[in-house]
Amino acid sequence: MAENDYNGVTERDFRREDDEEIEQKLRPGRFDEYIGQEKVKHNMQVFIAAAKGRGETLDHVLLYGQPGLGKTTLSNIIASEMGARLRVTAGPAIERPGDMAAILNDMNEGDFLFIDEIHRLNRAIEEILYPAMEDFVLDIVIGKGPAAKSIRLDLPRFTLIGATTRIGLLTAPLRDRFGVVHHLEPYSAADLKKILTRSASVLAVELTEAGAEEIARRSRGTPRVANRLLKRVRDFAQVQYDGVITGEVAKASLDRLEIDLMGLDAVDKKILRAIIEKFGGGPVGLETLAASIDEESGTLEDVAEPYLLQLGFIQRTPRGRMVTRLGYQHLGLPMPSEPAVNEQMDLF
Ligand code: ADP
Repeated sequence: MAENDYNGVTERDFRREDDEEIEQKLRPGRFDEYIGQEKVKHNMQVFIAAAKGRGETLDHVLLYGQPGLGKTTLSNIIASEMGARLRVTAGPAIERPGDMAAILNDMNEGDFLFIDEIHRLNRAIEEILYPAMEDFVLDIVIGKGPAAKSIRLDLPRFTLIGATTRIGLLTAPLRDRFGVVHHLEPYSAADLKKILTRSASVLAVELTEAGAEEIARRSRGTPRVANRLLKRVRDFAQVQYDGVITGEVAKASLDRLEIDLMGLDAVDKKILRAIIEKFGGGPVGLETLAASIDEESGTLEDVAEPYLLQLGFIQRTPRGRMVTRLGYQHLGLPMPSEPAVNEQMDLF
């Protein structure tokens, strides 16, 4: 079997491949179903209650964190708690300033606008957002050259929710216009178990405590990965076992999916091996590395790398990525620069 046949198992292909209907059902719709992220949830509930109490709109909110941690889900819940409509778009979908102006012009009082991947808006579009966010006005230039005229339109008060996986790529003027900024953290195994248990009941599949634990441990701290693995393990349970996801069933299925005990999949291992085998353990630049394994550098940076960094398997240096001693250990390989044990002994 080709090494990347299972690429779709983690979040990489999730949005494209997954059944929207099931996805909708798995998505929590209320704060009490949204598991974990207690600090963010608590603060948001206070801000929502305060805004509602004053009869005002909510301040603009920026949510950042790795893909699949629940930014879109949380935005839906926030809008729904405010009893408001949420319009959804994404940075790359807005190509011209006119697109942004049209979206803003279509907002109603109290509406929410969700912009996913907001770091991918270009500068000209961002500049339309500044006065819209700050003063709820839209500055439009009509005509060209000396005859050009600028007119100012009033907008209804709305709330922008921006989501990004790369807060560092946001320009300071845009970042500063958000009154509320929250970072979503990876989830603990205990929280992922709760998410899996809820999802199993939505999917009407029996999941034992040990089964949930096994899947949670290999879900890289990410609800989207947890749900995805649950669905695949459910297939194995149904076809090869009696339908119940026990610890053993989960373990055997995840092994078949090449998800190892730390949640690394075939692509993660391909990355580690490429750095070791093709670049002597690193450092190697992201683009070079991505090209060498035929993956997009954006996917590497957004999905694989954060988890490998979090585990301490790779290290980022100014000259590029390096595999650490822990990374070598995980693959069962010796670190080349280290003297062998008996040579070390000779030093003393
Ligand atoms: P993001 O927008 O950060 O990429 P999503 O909001 O699309 O992530 O979340 C991915 C999936 O994970 C959701 O469809 C939902 O089913 C699940 N999920 C995310 N966060 C939670 C949570 N806190 N509790 C339960 N399920 C969650």
